[in-house]
Amino acid sequence: MDYKALAEILFPDVTMTPDEVQAQFPRRVLPEGAVVTRMAPSPTGFVHLGNLVQGMISERMAHQSGGVLFLRVEDTDAKREVPGAVEVLINTLKHYGISFDEGATIDGDAGNYGPYRQRQRAAIYHVFAKKLVSEGKAYPCFCTEEELTAMREAQEAAKENFGYYGKYAIWRDRSIEDIQAQIDAGNPWVLRFRSEGSIENQFKFDDLVKGKLTITENDIDNVLLKSDGIPTYHFAHAVDDELMRTTHVVRGDEWLPSLPFHIQLFKALGFKLPKYVHIGPLMKMDGTSKRKLSKRKDPELALTYYKAAGFPVASVCEYLMTVLNSNFEDWRKANPDADHTTFKFSPKKLNPAGSLFDYAKLTDVSKNVISRMTAEDVYTQLVEWAQEFDAGFAEKLAADPAYATAILAIGRGGKKPRKDLATWVEAKPYMGFFYDEYLEKPVFDARFEKAVIIDALNRFLEKFDIADDSNTWFAKVKEITTDMGFTTDMKAYKADPSAFPGTVADISTFIRQAVTGKTNSPDLYTVMQILGYERTVARIKTAIGDLT
Ligand code: GLU
Repeated sequence: MDYKALAEILFPDVTMTPDEVQAQFPRRVLPEGAVVTRMAPSPTGFVHLGNLVQGMISERMAHQSGGVLFLRVEDTDAKREVPGAVEVLINTLKHYGISFDEGATIDGDAGNYGPYRQRQRAAIYHVFAKKLVSEGKAYPCFCTEEELTAMREAQEAAKENFGYYGKYAIWRDRSIEDIQAQIDAGNPWVLRFRSEGSIENQFKFDDLVKGKLTITENDIDNVLLKSDGIPTYHFAHAVDDELMRTTHVVRGDEWLPSLPFHIQLFKALGFKLPKYVHIGPLMKMDGTSKRKLSKRKDPELALTYYKAAGFPVASVCEYLMTVLNSNFEDWRKANPDADHTTFKFSPKKLNPAGSLFDYAKLTDVSKNVISRMTAEDVYTQLVEWAQEFDAGFAEKLAADPAYATAILAIGRGGKKPRKDLATWVEAKPYMGFFYDEYLEKPVFDARFEKAVIIDALNRFLEKFDIADDSNTWFAKVKEITTDMGFTTDMKAYKADPSAFPGTVADISTFIRQAVTGKTNSPDLYTVMQILGYERTVARIKTAIGDLT
């Protein structure tokens, strides 16, 4: 067979050589060990936690090594594409702080290794397809859908492996005349890879996450170009990652079964194989067993979920780092204020079987993250969230930024900051009482007579001076306690509760409830300082009025 002639028949318009294309994309000049990697998502409109995990790993590996991260849009499957999906993807990744050095952007492509959208690269793929054909490494296949279905049924009936191989590869060795006749008749064709592999053979392969793997060769003549001339993922990945000078391919391990084919393909094309980082899936506990997070069953897989739930971006990213690298938490303890990007990420520390997603742990991490933020930062992020999800609350917060920031500053700073909030959703229940419209009516403990509560509140009003420091303020509360026959001695009370009507904690609770509507609140002295004299007194008087 004259393969060169066949290549001309199939690709008459391709005039460039692979070398000419290669010369357009010079090797990158980067420091020794620099990782060049990419995110290569398909624009399906759904951006999920898995995308973010892949983005974070890629970003860390590239930037911590002085390398490059780029974004390539894999839009070869037009059927799956949703309008606007590329924009959603780009904006979401940006929102989560994944910064690309080059690639697809909202305003088109940026960088010297593009185009970065696969559908715009058809001419490039054809140059390499023609090369494969001219070397006898690829051939056209004119099988119809019906023929392929019949092949599959025959294989099922005979309990054979599925796919286009061996005796089923009916176009593998056809004459150039047969091929020409089909082309003359205008019949569509796909381009198939001529596999020289055998499932009898195995070889060793080193994956940066999975470690040493034993891989069985591929014997299937997979499709490289579909009938519209658009490549499959496999072929596009090989050509693109070669020409974009990718050193590491970070991707989900659902691609592992295709790896034997990819290895063959890189070899046939004369390309250097990149290193592979196959990430395991995100799992969750379902009862007592683990399973993959599923788009259908688990709303927490979608990134929009975390936004609506009010998790700060920093919390989600910080949490994912703890899941991805087991030594991250210790590092965080030793470096509480460091940016997570100063942690040295290692793909070797990823769990090859996948990472377990744990909502309780996320909440925990988020409390820590928020507790370390400045009040100003919390204010800005909270308002931004509320503007989208609770407009009324946003308005209140924005009406007096200094007031809101003072509230958010309670218990912040110092060695042991308060950890009240895990999400912005929790902010209103936590601090709403500072706004009169959100103040709830207190429900006092029924163990105490109303007259006793009123008495305590009146005594407090008599003594209350907004100029007191917190010690003086508390001394007054203790005075009221003893004056009313309650005790400040918690030990004595525990030893014999019947000896006292109650304790200083009960007196404090009466006052707290009158002022905040709740039995739990941040430091009451500080609350009163922020509310000011008039509003504190007014609230206590209202509570007394309601009790009478
Ligand atoms: N488009 C592929 C996907 O979304 C990319 C895999 C890769 O990163 O190579 O799964």
